[in-house]
Amino acid sequence: MTTHCPYCALQCGTRLTDDGAGSTRVAPTDFPVNRGRLCQKGWTAPAVLTTADRLTRPLLRGADGRLAESDWPTALDTVADRLRELRERHGPDSVAVFGGGGLTNEKAYLLGKFARVALGTSQIDYNGRFCMSSAAAAGNAAFGVDRGLPFPVTDLADADAVLLAGANVAETMPPLTQHLERAALVAVDPRRTATARRSALHLQPAPGTDLALSLGLLHVAVAEGLVDQEYVRRRTNGFPAAARRAAAWRPERVEAVTGVPAGAQREAVHLLAAADRAYVLTGRGVEQHSKGTDTAAAYLNLALALGLPGTPGSGYGTLTGQGNGQGGREMGQKSDQLPGYRSLTDPAARAHVARVWGVPPESLPGPGRTAYELLDSLGRPGGPRALLVFGSNPAVSAPHAARVVDRLTALDLLVVADFVPSETARLADVVLPVAQWAEEEGTMTGLEGRVLRRRALRPPPPGVRGDLDVLHGLAIRLGQPAERFPADAREVFEELRDATRGARADYSGISYPRLDAGEALYWPCPADPPTAHDGPAPAATSAGTPRLFLERFHHPDGRARFAEVDHRGPAEPTSERYPLLATTGRVLAHYQSGAQTRRVAELAGAVPEPVVEVHPDTAARAGLVDRGLVRVSSARGGMTARVRLDATMRPDTVFAPFHFAGDARANLFTHPALDPRSGMPEFKVSAVRLDAVPDP
Ligand code: SF4
Repeated sequence: MTTHCPYCALQCGTRLTDDGAGSTRVAPTDFPVNRGRLCQKGWTAPAVLTTADRLTRPLLRGADGRLAESDWPTALDTVADRLRELRERHGPDSVAVFGGGGLTNEKAYLLGKFARVALGTSQIDYNGRFCMSSAAAAGNAAFGVDRGLPFPVTDLADADAVLLAGANVAETMPPLTQHLERAALVAVDPRRTATARRSALHLQPAPGTDLALSLGLLHVAVAEGLVDQEYVRRRTNGFPAAARRAAAWRPERVEAVTGVPAGAQREAVHLLAAADRAYVLTGRGVEQHSKGTDTAAAYLNLALALGLPGTPGSGYGTLTGQGNGQGGREMGQKSDQLPGYRSLTDPAARAHVARVWGVPPESLPGPGRTAYELLDSLGRPGGPRALLVFGSNPAVSAPHAARVVDRLTALDLLVVADFVPSETARLADVVLPVAQWAEEEGTMTGLEGRVLRRRALRPPPPGVRGDLDVLHGLAIRLGQPAERFPADAREVFEELRDATRGARADYSGISYPRLDAGEALYWPCPADPPTAHDGPAPAATSAGTPRLFLERFHHPDGRARFAEVDHRGPAEPTSERYPLLATTGRVLAHYQSGAQTRRVAELAGAVPEPVVEVHPDTAARAGLVDRGLVRVSSARGGMTARVRLDATMRPDTVFAPFHFAGDARANLFTHPALDPRSGMPEFKVSAVRLDAVPDP
């Protein structure tokens, strides 16, 4: 049975076989993005299906404060009764929903509908806000639409040069590197990562200075006559204003701010400009900042100045992280959006979606708080008093994690649907055990906008239900008609086709039979002729859109827009007490909060605990030794971890992975300053100090 890896947005193709004794074998397929390869996480993914602490019974917190096994009718009745009671006493916004970028399209869609129709709340957002929101905001502003890669991953194989900014693909998406073997790589990263080591050029800026660096790269392009003037004139607006901002960022000034030598800046731009086929790709490194949208926009400016987006064989893209990071942000679980990227404040969009949902448009709530604002408001006056969490582990993954745990424990009701007792589930009043990837049908949308089928190898274990079934059961108990919340993924997909019809992310021409026949369908894929909501869907004929922008961008005038942006420093400057810059990220063996990968023996064996990377001189000043323990603290709190001395680190920078729990959570020190345009927190730079901790 063919399906896709449960983890990252590359969505490598896999074949699963059941040995008949409950064991699952996985092997890669020739699916284009992975062409017969998997990373360590993909090879070991079946282990999570049978993890020893798999949840198989609903749990209810009793009067003694302990979670105890219950049954589904009791659990769902309890949740529905308490939600109804809170709504009646405190209004619909007293209940909130937190989703995830790993949920299938069907789940993300039904979760958004559940929040806005069954609960009537505006308070829904999801963990993708912590992942893709800056890139999405910048992409929408520049192109009029946000699709991570507006071209197939395999196009990269013909590139002559690729700039990878804040994207350590050699560790986060190893099979993708086979498509980068031909290109000369320019890596932009404060660390000498596995990706930087295989690059022709490594620019190593101080954390929080990426925006100055990208302005400097545009300055070089302008000053040294490397701008594609014909492209800029024919296909874009706003170049003069963007160039004026960059004019102040001479390479020597950029060097003083970022630490990147002026010569290396020039070399990078010349390398890109001289290439016949070139790409600029960004990742979380440049996006997870309180100025993440402006930083992504500045890299977009560079790509536009060089004439890359929408040019065959070249382009700009952002490497979405979570498994359904692309589809998850299109289907209506964002605080400000309806399915298909439709805006919650657009009357025509509200009318269309309300008609599909069978409710009056005026009954739909408006936009709510973004993810961190939502988490920080829990249990406060005017904030939600109940939270339903699906597919997320914010107790580990949210910034300023100690405060988030405080807020989660201040709630009247915390409900968590998960398949393992995650750190967030352990705080819950009600835990609902749900199915996993190899036990469910659905669709995911990979980082290139291709819609993929997830297939069930076997049913979930006894006692476990699908998330759609949980939403169906809750909706009925909250007085909704059963048919409005189908528990069957195909039925939900048929409805979301209609809800996205005519939208920027149009899925109306995509169907399970077409996907099952092996068609490669990239959105927008409109049905032709358009489907009618209340009639049978005619045969769809669109082949979808593997490559966007070849003729026009999605703004009404068909032109891309430069952004007028300028540098500003991190939200939290270093100080005498906190003199170092800490940045966070992923390691090969683990994924996101680690709730899944820490349970896989091979992965936990490879990286059992966090290791903080420190320059030897910095370590010596703090009295640290290799493999010794260190406390990394900011003004908000700190984590304890092992030290690895690494002479390739900047002496002003330390790195910590964010996959671990308890006192090893990197997010205990991260800063919740938010990007005003996207709501993205400042994960990638915090002012910290290092203190040696005696080994027990
Ligand atoms: Fe899975 Fe991503 Fe690894 Fe591919 S690269 S096997 S999708 S975790």
